[in-house]
Amino acid sequence: MPSKILIIGACGQIGTELTTKLRKIHGKDNVIASDINTRKLDLVNAGPFEIIDAKNFNAIKDCCKNHNIDTIYLMAALLSATGEKYPMEAWDLNMNSLFHVLNLAKGGTIKKVYWPSSIAVFGPTTPRENTPQHTISEPTTVYGITKQVGERWCEYYHKKYGVDVRSIRYPGIISHKAMPGGGTTDYAVEIYHEAIKNGKYECFLSESTSLPMMFMDDAIKGTIDLMSAPAESLTIRSSYNLSAISFTPKQIFESIKTEMPDFEITYKPDFRQAIAESWPSSIDDSIARNDWNWQHRFDLDAMSKVMLSELRKKYQH
Ligand code: NAD
Repeated sequence: MPSKILIIGACGQIGTELTTKLRKIHGKDNVIASDINTRKLDLVNAGPFEIIDAKNFNAIKDCCKNHNIDTIYLMAALLSATGEKYPMEAWDLNMNSLFHVLNLAKGGTIKKVYWPSSIAVFGPTTPRENTPQHTISEPTTVYGITKQVGERWCEYYHKKYGVDVRSIRYPGIISHKAMPGGGTTDYAVEIYHEAIKNGKYECFLSESTSLPMMFMDDAIKGTIDLMSAPAESLTIRSSYNLSAISFTPKQIFESIKTEMPDFEITYKPDFRQAIAESWPSSIDDSIARNDWNWQHRFDLDAMSKVMLSELRKKYQH
């Protein structure tokens, strides 16, 4: 029998592309997309869709029962920058949605769970260069705290109840389809849009702030590779470090400039600068590479090429 998948938070930056890819792999009727609203109409119209509040246990449970769901991807969350504006809401959504899904899976009908963590689990006391899988993790944002605690609960539910939960600590994800949802790495998406629309960009991080990043195609590939890996090959049940590229605002600016020589940038760091400075600048993901053969495909210039060409089509330049 084919897997029946529920995606919670499917209309977000990652959910949109994950849903499309999973529908291609498993058939559209086997992938139920859900979100708290219907803002991505193309996604809503392209296959089964339900409005589900991730904080509502019964709504998730009923949907799983009605559609014989055996796999859940929980993508709903409040991200780092938004979480600092609404800390209690971030705690409420990020923790309770995870408990609902883990508790459902503990019951046995849900066979596999995917829940993303983030490089935000790290903090200013973490080694910044080539940050190891196992290291000091003292996050300073509410978002990072929810991800760190979430990781502990994932491992706990796996060890104690045998829940097959899998997770990746995503770096900043860069994509051209849906806009990012309020994170500290959003500048690396906005910069391409502004390059095409206005030929200039004011960056909210300083020019030399290096952060780990990944092109969306690699993030989706990593997610699907991890979910397809044999359970016995997985040695991490909290969340895997995953890495692709690291760059500064100046480096992404220079990469864009090779295609758009007149592009201009100015820097005006805001509250997100302090968040960025508390995060790693590069990540050691050797365990993911060993356990399930993780490999990224896109470097900075390859990503810039695709981003600029897709956004040119979008804005018809
Ligand atoms: P996003 O903000 O773009 O999307 C989140 C989605 O969740 C939105 O469509 C939103 O409508 C939905 N949502 C919000 N509240 C909800 C609720 N109560 N019930 C149901 N849905 C609700 O986020 P994203 O960038 O797609 O991130 C997805 C996951 O990946 C999150 O867990 C995030 O922490 C993690 N992550 C993302 C990045 C990144 O760079 N995008 C990096 C690290 C980790």
